[in-house]
Amino acid sequence: MIIKKEYLLNKNYEIIICGSGPAGITLALELEKQNISCLILEAGDEFYSDKAQSRYEGEVVGNFPNDISITRLSQFGGTTGHWGGTCRPLDSYDFKDWPINEEDIEPYLNKSCEILEIPKSFGEKNISDRLKIIEFQESDVRFHEKYFEYIKKSKLIDICLNCSIFNIKAKNNSINEILLDPENKLILKTNFLVLACGGIENSRLLLWFREKNKFISSSLPIGNYWMEHPFKKIGSGIGNFNLIRNNLKNDFEKFENFRNWGNFTVSISPTKKTIDEKNILNSAIFLTLHDRDNDTLKNNIKDLLCVAPNLSNKIVKLFNKNLLCGISISSSWEQDANINNKITLSNSKDSTGIPKTKLEYYLSEKTLKTAKEMINEVGLYFVDNDLGRIGGDQTIYDLKNFISDAGYHHIGGTRMGENKYSSVVDKNLKVHGVENLFVCGSSTFPSGGHANPTLSIIQLSLRLANHLAKKINIL
Ligand SMILES: Cc1cc2nc3c(=O)[nH]c(=O)nc-3n(C[C@H](O)[C@H](O)[C@H](O)COP(=O)(O)OP(=O)(O)OC[C@H]3O[C@@H](n4cnc5c(N)ncnc54)[C@H](O)[C@@H]3O)c2cc1C
Repeated sequence: MIIKKEYLLNKNYEIIICGSGPAGITLALELEKQNISCLILEAGDEFYSDKAQSRYEGEVVGNFPNDISITRLSQFGGTTGHWGGTCRPLDSYDFKDWPINEEDIEPYLNKSCEILEIPKSFGEKNISDRLKIIEFQESDVRFHEKYFEYIKKSKLIDICLNCSIFNIKAKNNSINEILLDPENKLILKTNFLVLACGGIENSRLLLWFREKNKFISSSLPIGNYWMEHPFKKIGSGIGNFNLIRNNLKNDFEKFENFRNWGNFTVSISPTKKTIDEKNILNSAIFLTLHDRDNDTLKNNIKDLLCVAPNLSNKIVKLFNKNLLCGISISSSWEQDANINNKITLSNSKDSTGIPKTKLEYYLSEKTLKTAKEMINEVGLYFVDNDLGRIGGDQTIYDLKNFISDAGYHHIGGTRMGENKYSSVVDKNLKVHGVENLFVCGSSTFPSGGHANPTLSIIQLSLRLANHLAKKINIL
């Protein structure tokens, strides 16, 4: 049920969850199934407001593409209020730097697909020993629409809207008090605290708690190893559409085609062999064929775009039309974890008195090398199979000026691992050195693969619910 802030005074909850995005809601609902009650503190209201969004404002240094206040939503249901819904699990080899394996979260995939109302179908088919085509699913679920009324009526889940956490207090490295205001008037008691505030806020809050308290170790790399999935159109091509369609045909239902550019899109990924041999990161290429139903002058100009972009751009200007080359290639791919890509606290504060975010974000040579190698691999495949010719866009050769078109998948900052010098939480998502503080969300991913993160976030939330339920039942 919804509970007002003033009624929280001195209340005691078994578990308090900060944040009502997919991470927090999934956790609360799964705990409820196991008969465990909890309180969700949600900083936003039922719907987003300028006031709530303003807490997300911050400073950005480097080549992050967006204003960080628009790349997430502060409201019930979190960022699913405007997410794209594209889903795919991580590849088994994405877990290389994780303290857990694919098998540790695979048991939660069925239930995660049910929550997102998507079929558990993520096919893949090798088209050579170097490349494979892969299947995505698209979810229409918005957590507000699906769960707000349900949680309002729940007897085991309390939710307090417009309520964010200000500080924590601990005894013997175990949190026992949650302070909701700087004046320490509103104090809550709990046995377990879970931060599920999204891929930037989890780091910001932990950094702030550490600044206020000595019991969070100064050795933890909080905020470091922050990542994104760069997304960009990276190449173009010309080719025989019938041959391409026949060569890449498959039974998969869904491919990434959110730009609705063309009439045929196929998603291509490197095999592990290619990743290892070329020393690149994981990647998804979205190869789209644009309508080619006649032989008009327009189509000739479109083709000319691939081989003589300057000349054809001049002609395009005469037509005043936004023409595209016959084949366009976009990509969403992995960025490597770098300690210097980080969230720190800025000098200015938000309306609740907590320092705003400062994000320092740069792309590495290896990240752009991945895009270049993938264009080469797809290009060679086209040559070997006589399908056409592919070329890379100038942008992927210019690291200094490269700006991705996205900035929506916030990964790292409270990464999972065994070592307290190179990670923040352990394999059960517990903060190293604090007995009852947990973090849930993509901030805990040590690496991000290329797959959109929310499906894996939900798998991890379900796993955390099981872990907490076991602990509570033992106590
Ligand atoms: C435009 C866009 C498109 C996207 N498309 C996709 C996609 O196609 N596929 C995909 O997998 N992912 C996509 N994402 C990413 C996806 O939305 C996130 O991975 C997902 O929402 C993260 O869930 P979360 O619960 O960790 O965080 P969020 O959904 O961000 O929720 C965090 C919640 O915590 C609350 N909160 C924050 N601070 C506090 C505090 N101090 N106290 C209490 N509450 C707090 C916030 O108000 C919010 O409700 C997209 C994101 C954007 C912006």
